[in-house]
Amino acid sequence: MRRVIVLGVLMAAGITAALTAQPPQTPGPKVLEVEKVADNLFVLRGAGSGGNTAVFLTADGVTIVDAKNPGWGQPILDKIKELTPKPVTRIINTHTHGDHVSGNVEFPATVDVVVQENTKANMEKMDIFKQNNNRGMAKRTFKDKMTIGKGADQIDLYYFGPGHTNGDAWVVFPALRTAHLGDLFAGKNMPLVDGNNGGSVLHYADTVNKAHRGIKNVDTVINGHSNTTTTWADVKTFADFNQDFVTWAQGALKSGKSAEEAAKEWKVPEKYTGYSSQVSNMFGGIAGRLQRLQEEMKR
Ligand SMILES: [Zn+2]
Repeated sequence: MRRVIVLGVLMAAGITAALTAQPPQTPGPKVLEVEKVADNLFVLRGAGSGGNTAVFLTADGVTIVDAKNPGWGQPILDKIKELTPKPVTRIINTHTHGDHVSGNVEFPATVDVVVQENTKANMEKMDIFKQNNNRGMAKRTFKDKMTIGKGADQIDLYYFGPGHTNGDAWVVFPALRTAHLGDLFAGKNMPLVDGNNGGSVLHYADTVNKAHRGIKNVDTVINGHSNTTTTWADVKTFADFNQDFVTWAQGALKSGKSAEEAAKEWKVPEKYTGYSSQVSNMFGGIAGRLQRLQEEMKR
């Protein structure tokens, strides 16, 4: 239980704070910046706010993807009012983490909430929804694919298997050739794998590769936390990076090294230009990933 609580607090504090071991932020004005991706698609970011929020304007209302840390739902609503008079009618959450779903509870109870079915089961375990009479809880789920709307308003949701969690949705706006990939795509970083929510080191690269092959016609990518959009080709490089990591890790473990011993030898292969050698200590750093892999290989 304690582990779950600590994990929840870390998630709420956000990956950046966890990486740099900063003290918790003192409450202050909650400032969101807007990046315009297209006339009808924006990304909201802000220091301490949590995951990137996409704002998609459609004919009959606004769909957002991810709702940030606790206390950031209202700032999202306020910022959207500067962009459009239309109401927010739908939230899509890419996965269950507190820095992506907590703001849900501040939206009107009528808002539709759509997630992958495993993410709904994970959200049902979270205190924030219990404390808010289930406001913001997922109302509709999909297993592998769901399409919402059509034409300029179309949104395609996909699930390709376990990775960051066991319910990572990829959200595609086909008319804009743009996708929000949540935390499954970690840019040029070693991704986090949340074993408590069904994440997988063993299947991570497969999942990203399946998504990269299975989704067509995307050029621009919004991910969970990075400051800029990236490209579809970057997603393929990230899949290769994860494949190389798991191949190396399986070899090291099969040679009889312990997770701790092997972890000391991990180096980012030189061909991955710009990839960070820093690895978040959340989920135990490289050794934690190797332990998770070891458990998965025994199954
Ligand atoms: Zn996450």
